[in-house]
Amino acid sequence: MKTAMNLLVTCALAAMSIVPATSVPSLQPSFDLRVLDEPHAAATDAGTQVFEELHLTNFTDSPLWLIDVAVVDARGGQVLAHFDGEALTRRLARIGTPATSGDATVPSGSRAVVYIEWPANAHRPRAVEHVVTYAPPHGAPADVVRGARTAVSYAAGAPLGPPLRGGPWVAVHAASWARGHRRVFNAVDGQARIPGRFAIDWIRVDDAGHTARQHPDIPSNWLGYGADVLAVADATVVTVRDDMTESPRVSTNPRHALADDAGNFVTIRLADGRYAFYEHLRPGSIAVHVGDRVHRGEVLAQLGFTGASTGPHLHFHVSDGPSRVGAEGRPFTLASFELLGRYDDISALGKAPWAERVEGESEQRHDEWPAENAVVQFPE
Ligand SMILES: [Zn+2]
Repeated sequence: MKTAMNLLVTCALAAMSIVPATSVPSLQPSFDLRVLDEPHAAATDAGTQVFEELHLTNFTDSPLWLIDVAVVDARGGQVLAHFDGEALTRRLARIGTPATSGDATVPSGSRAVVYIEWPANAHRPRAVEHVVTYAPPHGAPADVVRGARTAVSYAAGAPLGPPLRGGPWVAVHAASWARGHRRVFNAVDGQARIPGRFAIDWIRVDDAGHTARQHPDIPSNWLGYGADVLAVADATVVTVRDDMTESPRVSTNPRHALADDAGNFVTIRLADGRYAFYEHLRPGSIAVHVGDRVHRGEVLAQLGFTGASTGPHLHFHVSDGPSRVGAEGRPFTLASFELLGRYDDISALGKAPWAERVEGESEQRHDEWPAENAVVQFPE
């Protein structure tokens, strides 16, 4: 009687993808749920968005099919975001398998990660939990598991200065890309982390959207090549690598191991304890040494084409530690920049102009993480 009642309750809740904190947990074996890195809020063009990754490991001896994944306020139970169907499969990656599987099955013994963002404007929960509705694959009834309670960080570091001058520069990044920076875990010292969670690849364009003069296979033809790369804050230089050469052709750039994929790079320690990373720098251009104190706006190096890259650009990210691959990516904002527009379809970059700012969208942006594929102008 009690079991039947619980099952009814469970099925009804599965349909709504909400579970009150007081519900009796199912004893069905299923997922181990983990959030490895505390969710962090970022100031975006769409207001405050919290970024997190939910890890689900299937501890049963059969596959489990994900139906719905929800983030709820750990206190009030409000659903902050939930994903099902295609919205879920697009956010789902299975560790060690290609990103293109397109379904929501998690095989026995394997780990999946759901990449999640949720808005935190009027309501800012201090902690969240995760509610996962799932089914065994062959018609068995859906069940719900709740877990991975975690605090949420709203800590905002000091706004940063521009990493480059002039423009237009395209802020190439998107949380949804199956092969983007945010999807790249490194487990180099016994812990899996995402250093590039908020990374931006900066690519210079002209008004027609071209990225290069003449033939783009020559790195130095790229419009951004050789541009000065600037300290985003008063800081201390903690790492410099300047021993990598450049491929003379973009098309012949060899594959690089993780240890070399950043090419030549500079790391600086900011006053608030975060670290900023500048990668793929031009050989021989690095103008600073480890231990140097640098001031905001000071030239660190020049944009180049070293390491793993499909064209000259500046890779920039901020993280919580000095290790380029063994630290967690942290949100950052730029104190001000001019928004020109954006690429709605990034495959048009290099071939066609960007889309103009939409009516009513303000040109001067302040204390904001540049939006996905935004086209921006910095002071000369
Ligand atoms: Zn990058």
